[in-house]
Amino acid sequence: MSLTLHFLGTSAARPTIERGVSSIALVREGETLLFDCGEGTQRQMMRCGISFALNDIFFTHFHGDHLIGTIGLLRTLALQGRTETMRLWGPRGAKRVLRAVTHFGVDRINFPVEIAELEPGERVTRDGYAIVPFAVDHRGSAAFGYALVEEERRGRFNPDLARELGIPEGPLWGRLHRGMAVTLDDGRVIEPSVLVGPPRPGRKVVLTGDTRPTQTTVDAARGADVLVHEATFADEEQERAAETGHSTGREAAEVARAAGVRRLVLTHFSARYSRDTSDLVREARAVFEETIAARDGMVMDIPYVNEGTTVEAHHGAPPSNT
Ligand SMILES: [Zn+2]
Ligand SMILES: [Zn+2]
Repeated sequence: MSLTLHFLGTSAARPTIERGVSSIALVREGETLLFDCGEGTQRQMMRCGISFALNDIFFTHFHGDHLIGTIGLLRTLALQGRTETMRLWGPRGAKRVLRAVTHFGVDRINFPVEIAELEPGERVTRDGYAIVPFAVDHRGSAAFGYALVEEERRGRFNPDLARELGIPEGPLWGRLHRGMAVTLDDGRVIEPSVLVGPPRPGRKVVLTGDTRPTQTTVDAARGADVLVHEATFADEEQERAAETGHSTGREAAEVARAAGVRRLVLTHFSARYSRDTSDLVREARAVFEETIAARDGMVMDIPYVNEGTTVEAHHGAPPSNT
């Protein structure tokens, strides 16, 4: 089950030569979820090979640099004759803002657009995962970060032991792996716990949007595989970060360390760092080593941790040699 982050725009406030404004695509096994849609996002999607056949855009907040690309993207989708529903999600105020956006510059939207205002903690549940919004701290506005949280996966099936116990490969293995006891021809009843290990955690990816460092992010990101945290400024502009509701690289790293995440990706850089994020990254790494700076077009695969060769590769059903 693939899970990949695509950084479409990594600049704060305005585009630069090197960077477009905020947008991130999270692609899970062919399904694309877009987080924010700054100016120029649709062109970045084309350049990065992100499908326009997406059905969900999640907004962290409604500052223009996270939003204005929606007009162009929806317009293109309308021109392409889209018929499927597009769902737009965001914090309080989403309906008012996004209704205006969806009517602006679109002569005739020929597909349904649903706009939903979420509360912090209100899960959007899908097959195998949920998107969970959490409140962040950005100039007093209603602003979210989002966590993609996968469900637990089944425990590992032990094929060697199954053979040893004389359980024929095939449907019985599948039943056991799905948690059902089976009765063999000789009358023995085999409980699944004999052959299947404990459930294994799914993956977690957390995106902050614009924010000061907050405890809510630490809580949401606890144990995450990847935390994508804004880092608009370097230490030298610490005060400005506080004044404008943003974070420095070091502050993002402190959040990552407190949350015990595996990796930290910094994004949303002020124009003055557009070409050179090295100060920011160095300051962050002093606190949290596993830190990198995003750049436009960067792709990051998020594998399962400690995944050896398992039956998982067979869509959860044990392999059969028949
Ligand atoms: Zn921003
Ligand atoms: Zn903002």
